[in-house]
Amino acid sequence: MGGKVPGTMEELTSLPGVGRKSANVVMLEAFGNPQGIAIDTHAKRIANRVGLSKNVIPEKIEQDILKLIPKKYYKDVNHLLVWHGRKICDSRKPKCEKCPIKEYCKYNLENAKK
Ligand code: SF4
Repeated sequence: MGGKVPGTMEELTSLPGVGRKSANVVMLEAFGNPQGIAIDTHAKRIANRVGLSKNVIPEKIEQDILKLIPKKYYKDVNHLLVWHGRKICDSRKPKCEKCPIKEYCKYNLENAKK
């Protein structure tokens, strides 16, 4: 691309080894123009636990989330998923007792019944 980073999802994902996750991060962080949600390991886990998506394939999880979230929130949701996954919704031991969305979370509600 002549030494320039491409500025569209189509161009970015056409590069070898660049999938939607990386392209979404570049569009958000380099261009300030979020086009979707980067589904990393945190986003995948949270989406499945909360009940935003039953899918396990990142591209399908992203499409499920995009149906729920207006575009103006893409930036915030990208950042929230990463930080929520790092700080509260830990992979091995989620801190559900202090989680601000626990009353909406499928995982927490199902565990509360047990
Ligand atoms: S309630 Fe628990 S499982 Fe659900 S999002 Fe919060 S920390 Fe994760």
